[in-house]
Amino acid sequence: MTAARVPRRTGSPLRLTLDRLVYAGLYALVLIAPLAMISHVVKAGAQGSVVVFSDAVGFGALSLLALQVVVSGRWAGTTRAFGLRPVLSLHRQAGKTVLVLVVFHVAILLADDPARLALLDSFTAPPRARAGMLATLGLFALAGTSIFRERLRLSYEHWRGLHLVLTAVVLGAAFAHVVWVDAFTANPLVRWSVLALVLTAAGALFWTRFAHPYAATQRPYRVRSVRRERGNAVTLELEAEDHHGLHFAPGQFARLRAPGSIYGMAEHPFSLSSSAHDPDRPAFTVKALGDFSSAVAHLPLGTQVFVDGPHGEHAHDGPRVRGRLLVAAGIGITPALSVLRTAAEGGDHRPVVLIYGSRRWEDITFREELDDLRRRMSALTVVHVLSQPPAAWGGERGRIREDVLGRHTPRHLDRWSALVCGPAAMVEQTTETLRALGMRRGAIQAEGFG
Ligand SMILES: Cc1cc2nc3c(=O)[nH]c(=O)nc-3n(C[C@H](O)[C@H](O)[C@H](O)COP(=O)(O)OP(=O)(O)OC[C@H]3O[C@@H](n4cnc5c(N)ncnc54)[C@H](O)[C@@H]3O)c2cc1C
Repeated sequence: MTAARVPRRTGSPLRLTLDRLVYAGLYALVLIAPLAMISHVVKAGAQGSVVVFSDAVGFGALSLLALQVVVSGRWAGTTRAFGLRPVLSLHRQAGKTVLVLVVFHVAILLADDPARLALLDSFTAPPRARAGMLATLGLFALAGTSIFRERLRLSYEHWRGLHLVLTAVVLGAAFAHVVWVDAFTANPLVRWSVLALVLTAAGALFWTRFAHPYAATQRPYRVRSVRRERGNAVTLELEAEDHHGLHFAPGQFARLRAPGSIYGMAEHPFSLSSSAHDPDRPAFTVKALGDFSSAVAHLPLGTQVFVDGPHGEHAHDGPRVRGRLLVAAGIGITPALSVLRTAAEGGDHRPVVLIYGSRRWEDITFREELDDLRRRMSALTVVHVLSQPPAAWGGERGRIREDVLGRHTPRHLDRWSALVCGPAAMVEQTTETLRALGMRRGAIQAEGFG
């Protein structure tokens, strides 16, 4: 058995572990630091214990808020180390925690001295209280618009724009509140730490939303071909314009920017479906679901497109991996196809099992190419699972569930890796089943397109 010719920038497992340790350590440090600083100030005898406790909670909220700007799914480093889904999940959970901490912070102060209720009167309140109120209202708006986006009928683009503006407002107001409260920021250590924290968050916001998108425009691509695929999808093949292209690893995704907009919100994530051996000709296969994904089919050849990436985890296929299990549903086939194309082109002869769920036989995106790959790769097994099979269908029926996985997953999964991609519910369920079948969590790359 030969391992794949590893495409550039794949990253070794050791490097990945180190990255994870560094990011997790930094995260913990930023969270713990305010508490250490508070105890430092308390020793200096600045405040009463209840107020100190409440301020510690408020400080914790500010640190966590600043961290959310960094842990937002926009940093290629963190999504590569942990995967997009875990990063976004942490972002959501930590966002809720910030809100709880802020409410707790206010509640403690009011319980300690109900006369502080007067600070909630925006006409008479001092600047520190007004800034605090603005930050709290902004936080509620952030949470409300994120949780109820669909009920509020906010398009994804409008929600993203609002999210960005509200984040900047909350961060600025929270900073002003801390500075005006003064009791802690009078201490130079605290003052400079808070400033560094907020400036880092503001810098991260600027980098991910403006500088990085701008950098992507310096490496444009042209549409080379637009090919219709089965299952209401199209493959958009791009060509690097006077640069070396996108050095990605199978399993990663990039954000495509609509023509004519550099900073606009019209930016959509798609997994690379092409071989990692062809960085100058990256391809994306897009299923028409809404405005942007439907417009892709009509892009004229030669149109300039901007690609921000690569982002996200890559499929685990280092030289220690003995075989790969790919589980895909619907358009979730795209990263799996990139794995297969890369393996075929790189002469990788390790066993691969693809379990692929589609609605009907006619809908199977890349059906013919998979047949062709099966002929070229003797160690490839493809299992189609159809939810609406034809009458004479002798293969797997229904959805990809425990029984299907149980029948086709190799018995000995030691040193096998898995890539699971499709609707969020299927990804969750399959990941759990694979864990129950004995696969390590670290060996599974789970990518939900929801
Ligand atoms: C990591 C990742 C990889 C993906 N890979 C593929 C792929 O290979 N092929 C494919 O067809 N689809 C893929 N998707 C899904 C694709 O991004 C959405 O279908 C597309 O952005 C929908 O945009 P729209 O304007 O056509 O539809 P809309 O009607 O605007 O959106 C439909 C839904 O898609 C989601 N969405 C819309 N815009 C974005 C955005 N900018 N970022 C994240 N989610 C958004 C929202 O949940 C929205 O409710 C991927 C998604 C993610 C997160």
